[in-house]
Amino acid sequence: MAAGILITGGAGFIGSHAVEALVRAGRPVRVFDDFSTGSRANLAPWLPRIELVEGDVRDADAVREAARGCESIVHLAAIASVQKSIDDPEATREVNVDGTEHVLVAAREAGVRRVVVASSCAVYGEPDDLPIDEWQPFDPRSPYAASKMAAERLCLSLCDRGGVDIGPLRFFNVYGPRQDPSSDYSGVIARFMERLSMGEPCTVYGDGKQSRDFVYVTDVIAALRLALDARRLGAQPLNVGTGVETSVHELLAALMQGTGRECEVVHAPAREGDVRHSRASRNRAADQLGWEPEVRVADGLATTWAWFQGRASRVEDDDTSPGGDEDTPDNDEFASPDAVAEESAAVPADPAPDFDLDL
Ligand code: NAD
Repeated sequence: MAAGILITGGAGFIGSHAVEALVRAGRPVRVFDDFSTGSRANLAPWLPRIELVEGDVRDADAVREAARGCESIVHLAAIASVQKSIDDPEATREVNVDGTEHVLVAAREAGVRRVVVASSCAVYGEPDDLPIDEWQPFDPRSPYAASKMAAERLCLSLCDRGGVDIGPLRFFNVYGPRQDPSSDYSGVIARFMERLSMGEPCTVYGDGKQSRDFVYVTDVIAALRLALDARRLGAQPLNVGTGVETSVHELLAALMQGTGRECEVVHAPAREGDVRHSRASRNRAADQLGWEPEVRVADGLATTWAWFQGRASRVEDDDTSPGGDEDTPDNDEFASPDAVAEESAAVPADPAPDFDLDL
């Protein structure tokens, strides 16, 4: 591969959007993923344009091999669920902490210039103040949050060694097309949309007044790309959130109104490790990256809902698309952005429903 970008976890929800954006920009992309939660289907339109390496970030040699020849790395591979981390803290540490160490050491050995690492607002736990700025103390309330905190510390201790500049981005609650709705581990928007589509009850944990800062996936990708191209990041964490807070009840009401679908609401006890309120200060990302989110929650929900509605037919299309289920050979040639755009069946252009959420 010509000096390109390695995306670990590139077959996942956020990763596949990163692949889409970078391929469209004409950048050579190599994906490294074990497909534990990601899938080839997420990458189907871009498979002919990327290098796909199946591997586990716990395997230091495999990571070292994957980093070879790359100029930058986007490190997204992780066990990305609070609940899963409570169920299996050891695996969470191995993947999220040891895996990050493997990526950072491999970057140094391969002469990589920049590594952008996915961290999480979970590191703040229950914040002292809202909006949450990056100077608030760590307060990890789950093995997942603790693993992200430890990964950030590795970023700090390995930054600049061998000339590698590292940037941890603290994503808030990311949502959008291709988010997997199929398990209890999934994000709340994907889960509610799946339930509403199927006419099944929606479960609200706790009293529903807990709030989150929902950030649309293309805004997250814009932040990632700015971080890749920034002059220097110096391992300083940057929040990637909108600064807008939405409660779970507000979200569900907006979804029912916007989709015109009712669902039975089932209340369950609050979940272990869940924080009460979350809202990002985005000043630092604005200062350091010039990043501003562009997608209002109402618009992001509309696009995501439109994608959920078309999902069944797209799955069929993906199954029959050429190369859809095969690994792709090494490939230095990349299609023009237009050609790729034509192939992409990922996101419908016009969000149909109107979500009455004044956000
Ligand atoms: P995801 O589960 O869709 O993607 C994770 C990807 O990593 C998947 O493709 C999975 O197969 C891969 N992976 C997991 N373990 C691996 C391993 N051992 N080796 C190689 N690949 C492995 O999750 P996502 O929502 O796209 O999250 C991407 C990153 O962003 C994660 O680091 C997550 O912690 C972080 N993050 C996500 C959110 C969110 O709201 N989605 C919020 C904060 C932080």
